[in-house]
Amino acid sequence: MSELTLDAPIDRLKGIGPKRAALLRASGLSTVADLLRLPPHRHATFAAPTPIARLVANVPACIRVRIRRRKGSGRRGVVASRLDVEDASGALAAFVFGPRWLIHQYAIGEEVVLSGEPRLRDGALTFLVRATLHQEELPPEPRAVLRPVYRLPDGLAPRLHRRLLRLACSALARELEAERPAWSAPALGRSASLAELFRWLHFPEDRDEAARARRAFAFAAAVELQTRLLQEKRTRAPRPGGAYSGVERELAAYRAALPFALTSDQERALADAARDLAAPDAMSRLLTGDVGSGKTAVAFFPLLVAARHGRQGALLAPTEILARQHARTLAEVAAALALPPPRLYVAGDHGGERGAPLDAPLIVGTHRLFSTATRFRDLAAVVVDEQHKFGVRQRFRLWSKGERPDLLLVSATPIPRTLALTLFGHLDLSVLAQRPFAERRVVSELLLGEARRGLAARIRAEVEHGGKVFVVCPAIAAGDAEANGRAAAETFAPWLAARLPVPEQLALLHGRMDSETKQARIDDFSAGRLRVLVATVVVEVGIDVPDATLAVVLGADRFGLSQLHQIRGRVGRRAAPAACLLVASDPSEETRARLEAFTATDDGFRLAEMDLELRGPGELLGTLQHGLAAGLYPEALTDATLIAAARDWARMGAESKDRRKSSPNKPFRERTVASSDWIW
Ligand code: ADP
Ligand code: MG
Repeated sequence: MSELTLDAPIDRLKGIGPKRAALLRASGLSTVADLLRLPPHRHATFAAPTPIARLVANVPACIRVRIRRRKGSGRRGVVASRLDVEDASGALAAFVFGPRWLIHQYAIGEEVVLSGEPRLRDGALTFLVRATLHQEELPPEPRAVLRPVYRLPDGLAPRLHRRLLRLACSALARELEAERPAWSAPALGRSASLAELFRWLHFPEDRDEAARARRAFAFAAAVELQTRLLQEKRTRAPRPGGAYSGVERELAAYRAALPFALTSDQERALADAARDLAAPDAMSRLLTGDVGSGKTAVAFFPLLVAARHGRQGALLAPTEILARQHARTLAEVAAALALPPPRLYVAGDHGGERGAPLDAPLIVGTHRLFSTATRFRDLAAVVVDEQHKFGVRQRFRLWSKGERPDLLLVSATPIPRTLALTLFGHLDLSVLAQRPFAERRVVSELLLGEARRGLAARIRAEVEHGGKVFVVCPAIAAGDAEANGRAAAETFAPWLAARLPVPEQLALLHGRMDSETKQARIDDFSAGRLRVLVATVVVEVGIDVPDATLAVVLGADRFGLSQLHQIRGRVGRRAAPAACLLVASDPSEETRARLEAFTATDDGFRLAEMDLELRGPGELLGTLQHGLAAGLYPEALTDATLIAAARDWARMGAESKDRRKSSPNKPFRERTVASSDWIW
């Protein structure tokens, strides 16, 4: 077997079989380097051990002991298992609460550190165990220990994870000692070896050490990101057809073709787009805005300008339902502008691959659009709705089917300004802050614990008063991994239907249905033949059924704030009053506070910022973050000082070849990155 390297696939580590490897890969850890660079989200402290003889009842302490006997209890579920332990000063019985198998983690004769509380029981001192340091984690000398805690996927044991880290560090010791990345200097005052950096990050002596190592890695992540952005800046180029003429006239005609008057934010964003089109350089723009702020009306414009000039505009949407919806809306505007209706290009349609290239001036489609064989006559404008649903490469593949087409990325969730500037710093930015219906009133309410009993009655009342209801469930079927004991759509739907005045007015809508069925259900719901849709979160967040009045989210504790806001955005899309009910069985204090904060604000930008603080950037970034260390170190996206320093560093790096050698990406795999990766 060849030597282990940072780039080696993760299953080269001992103890990782195909099943675990798949689990790890699914959560973004495919190489040894990925494993090492995942930072702990905190460290748990094990105090320096106290001799058993010096324990005081009810005063938390750690003891370093040897296990003499262990005894599990016979019952199922959570049980108390007993460990007889001793140190040089005495012996006692320690109790571990947990599933029955837990006791087998402890080996007879093993030396461990137990953290917990001494308790007096029938006159004897016993020990209630809260956490354990096993033999392999004990320092040679008795002293305080910081143990890293990670956010790991279900099914990956923390103890195994820590073992893998130690294994990787020792197996790679030589390579890690030799590598002294220059980027470590700013945070540490001197450059350190990768061996030191990883040790401090994961298994530090004290919190200060951990903090400084984290700072160093965050800096590296920020430099990596800024380097990419810098790289992109230099690739901007003139539009092959030159500047469009008569863009002002086009804008006036478009305004007249719309069924409503534009908001001033929409006007401003359209003016931005018009300016881009009237300039010689191709458009490279990000449009972000709150849910329901009317992004679509802005997004259509570049497509129409291209079409009116005899060229082609393509709109990419993440789902067929959304694509159909856009095609229908666009058709109305197109007709008013004397253009043919858009060509819908979705799964199963191979017209653009066989024979002649796609010829229609307007094309709306899904993934099919960027499939390798799809060709266009003259693709001049690309608009990507809900851009985070697509990977960098996918967007690039569509974009490269034209000759430097104008590009508009539309985000589904509002992106906080700071984040937009760092992450999309290479794109121009248009923001829709206000909604067309400023008077929108969506009352949000929590139904927790017992209060959930009122749910069916609430939905029934809504239907009886002529309302339309979306119910979002965390999973489709009860057996699905996401269900995890929570309400699944297929279980909830019949239960609810039985409690409605007309059970047939309820239907399911989820990702495992074929698209005709889905479309039929949405149409029935729009037309009022259906009054309740029980859906999963794939409920195409962009769908627009303007007269829906109630959104219900089951298992609301599972969703991020931005996601909840998306769902809430499905109702109250006109000024009519609407409501959003968040249902959860037994949320933790922390979750409850988060959900309460949600009910208190309807501002998507504010909620996105809160998500960023609470859950990191993953949800906001979507597919974009994959492979970028900034996904692991949110500071790289939010900390202005760090970002400014990283930008300077990246600039110097770009200028000096020497600097490149000790590239900041080093622990993050010095992959040879195709130029296409830099485009966005
Ligand atoms: P989002 O920004 O969430 O994508 P949409 O573009 O789907 O929002 O627009 C939300 C709804 O508001 C749609 O029904 C759309 O027709 C409507 N709308 C958009 N702009 C205006 C406006 N200026 N006046 C009235 N209604 C508008
Ligand atoms: Mg939208």
